Amino acid sequence: MDKFFILLAPHYCLGCGVKGQVVCANCLQDACSDSQNYCLKCGGTIADRCRRCCLPFEKSWQVSSREGVLKSLLDTYKFESVRAAAGPIAEALSTCLPILPASTVVVTIPTIPGHIRQRGFDHTKLVARRLAKFKGCAHKELLRRKNNTVQFGKSARVRRAQAKEAFACSAVLDPKVPYLIIDDTCTTGATVTEAAKVLKAAGAKRVWVAVVARQSIDK
Ligand SMILES: [Zn+2]
Ligand SMILES: [Zn+2]
Repeated sequence: MDKFFILLAPHYCLGCGVKGQVVCANCLQDACSDSQNYCLKCGGTIADRCRRCCLPFEKSWQVSSREGVLKSLLDTYKFESVRAAAGPIAEALSTCLPILPASTVVVTIPTIPGHIRQRGFDHTKLVARRLAKFKGCAHKELLRRKNNTVQFGKSARVRRAQAKEAFACSAVLDPKVPYLIIDDTCTTGATVTEAAKVLKAAGAKRVWVAVVARQSIDK
């Protein structure tokens, strides 16, 4: 569909079809109601961190699994380039998170440049900015990509291998400040794990992760 047309056309809720927003308040609330937290690697139920998986972040949160309205919302945003979906996605993330210390820095997984060109905007950065605003903290682009390999459709083993050495951080980070890495979809946890390791190597001591949706690899 023509991008200009998308900007002007009214939105219909992806959940119930009501005219107005990409997702209405009720449907967004429903999509965020599964507050159970799971380990981003093994999928086990956790409080803050998994006892079995030794992940390099202290805490993690997720909105829900990638299904229903949440899946439609992410697909509309990423694959149909509907910019207005950034608001509800940031709101969903904000809802699943507790109150954050004001010193918290929201960190994004850098988007592959080709994807920014295709969509006409940096989808991760838009969500990060809004989330940081909702939570009253800062957003900084601390990570950069060392390569541009795409993980979609790859096996768990290949994803882990690809994620290694994927990012770099040239800043010196504050050990007292919490760094919250955000990502839209988490499959094996490989990407956020590598991003967390890079932040720690740059001096961070408190690294947290929030993802919009958790997805099993065979979906
Ligand atoms: Zn609705
Ligand atoms: Zn685990």
